[in-house]
Amino acid sequence: MTVKESEMPKQYQNFINGRHFDAKSGKTFENRNPANWDEVLSTFPLSGKEDVDDAVNAARKAFETWRLVPAPSRGNILKKVGDLLTARKEDLARTMTKEMGKVLLETRGDVQEGIDTAYYAASEARRLFGHTVPSELPNKFNMAMRMPIGVAGIITPWNFPMAIPTWKIFPALVCGNSVVFKPASDTPETAAKLVEILIETGVPEGVVNIVHGGGGSVGMAIVDHPSIDLISFTGSSVVGKKISEVASKTLKRVSLELGGKNAQIVMDDARLDLALEGVLWGAFGTTGQRCTATSRLIVHEKVYDKFLSMLVDHTKKLRLGDGLKETTDVGPLVNQGQVETVEKYVRIGADEGAKILTGGKRPDGKELSKGWFYEPTILGGVTPSMRVAREEIFGPVLSVIKVRNITEAIDVTNGTNYGLSSSVYTQDLNNAYQAIRDIRAGITYINAPTIGAEAHMPFGGVKETGNGHREGGWTVYEFFSEWKTVYVDYSGKLQRAQIDTKE
Ligand code: NAD
Repeated sequence: MTVKESEMPKQYQNFINGRHFDAKSGKTFENRNPANWDEVLSTFPLSGKEDVDDAVNAARKAFETWRLVPAPSRGNILKKVGDLLTARKEDLARTMTKEMGKVLLETRGDVQEGIDTAYYAASEARRLFGHTVPSELPNKFNMAMRMPIGVAGIITPWNFPMAIPTWKIFPALVCGNSVVFKPASDTPETAAKLVEILIETGVPEGVVNIVHGGGGSVGMAIVDHPSIDLISFTGSSVVGKKISEVASKTLKRVSLELGGKNAQIVMDDARLDLALEGVLWGAFGTTGQRCTATSRLIVHEKVYDKFLSMLVDHTKKLRLGDGLKETTDVGPLVNQGQVETVEKYVRIGADEGAKILTGGKRPDGKELSKGWFYEPTILGGVTPSMRVAREEIFGPVLSVIKVRNITEAIDVTNGTNYGLSSSVYTQDLNNAYQAIRDIRAGITYINAPTIGAEAHMPFGGVKETGNGHREGGWTVYEFFSEWKTVYVDYSGKLQRAQIDTKE
């Protein structure tokens, strides 16, 4: 039997300097469906340092003309990118679900985040405000303005295959930088389709280049490259630390968005129905593989038993399955490695004395037998010092901790090395404001789950979640531009600052 051409895996290439290339090594890797590992969706070049060199050279050259394009014109391209993303939303969402597993409802949201980011970037291109500031000397004009930086190395994870690349690439372009992009090797197809859109809408050749391949090879070659000026990385804290070390040798500017161990607090005065919906969405959305996923549930002792029984009951009803089916609530994990990590942590939790209240295993059933599925899992009786209460698991596992009051709840929330997102369900304004002030995290939600970032708001975390930069909103434009301070003296004589001032 011959395989129809439409069923053959599509062969993608790198895109460098406006042209498609295989890896110089000639090697490729497969992109498989995590809901059915027998299905090869597409193949991609397994690139290396030599491919990165070509991409960086192209980006370096293109930067010299791109930086001179007026920012509003750069923004107009982003407007068209938003329009094309809108037109292709369904195709992109299905591609994403097939290559990384999360349900269609969420992959549509992921594309929508890219659309919102594109339109926001288009509008920001007409702002990019600078400052004019009075001079201390007469007949002198002072201003500070934003300048492009150069070539941006963009390295992204697989859990938001569209949103995260757009958070980085769009502001990089609006600010006048060129880009070398390495997406996660679990989600190369969504990334390739995003770059196709950028090219179609008029981004000049060499301004955006994509090089596919592994983190240790392509990723590291980007981080180490002397002609790359800045690195924007989202991924694990372990890799983030490595990147920070290597990039410091060439004094690159580096933005790191890393892991999380986010908590939802439920106080005794909370609306439990709302808190229940919130935690189900926060803990099991994207199969728990969000950097902002609710990984800890911190419950007031007065409502602990009642809330836990509601939660276990509803968790058991969640439907596992292929994310392409509209009836599925929870899709597969992205790959075998993630399943093994989740299995390891559930074992660690049980050994530490936590109780598996539901889940705790891979599901039975023929339909799920060829996918990386794992049952939504709740660990009860967790104490703050257990590893399952402190370490990122990145799967559908929720650790539940009992507390006596808001101060203890906040202390427990703060008891990890991470600080990305947090959430408090309470009807008491005093509890809410104490939490807003005292929780050490980049994001705090009141009466909403730990997930749900909006494109025009700053996004990022404290402690080992990052290195102080923010994505999203107006703040990311700080990262992708450099301040230039300009003094114009129109006095017609030498005026010496700090010396020729008259008091
Ligand atoms: P990862 O760190 O393994 O990989 C992220 C990217 O880095 C991939 O493209 C990978 O190929 C590349 N990479 C790996 N090793 C590298 C190296 N030595 N040098 C350069 N690049 C390298 O992370 P992941 O498994 O893809 O994603 C999950 C992690 O990402 C979780 O820890 C999650 O919390 C984090 N994350 C954080 C945010 C955030 O905004 N804070 C958002 C999403 C995901």
